Amino acid sequence: MVVALDIDGTIDQHPEFFAHLSESLVSAGHRVVVITFRENERETAAALDAWGIRYHELIVNDLDEQHSVGVLEWKGVVCTRLGVDVFFEDDAEVLAHVPAGVVCFSPFMR
Ligand SMILES: [Mg+2]
Repeated sequence: MVVALDIDGTIDQHPEFFAHLSESLVSAGHRVVVITFRENERETAAALDAWGIRYHELIVNDLDEQHSVGVLEWKGVVCTRLGVDVFFEDDAEVLAHVPAGVVCFSPFMR
């Protein structure tokens, strides 16, 4: 599986859970990618390391790509490009543009 994680409103809501989840997934041979609107790659990687998040790839805000595909559409485009199977994301407007084949989980689903 390819599992994508958002940071703000998702990982940062319960870093310990996502540290365990990411560790389990990576250990089991799955691919973990982090997709975020954060812009500073170095600071973002440091935050993920501090939380103990394991991942293979970090995708930070790409303003050029967002300009061409749309801000709300951008993460869905990235999911398609990376072959994401499962996506943890809190933003309903972002989720509305994620391809139907991607299973989405939101911290704010109740
Ligand atoms: Mg978010």
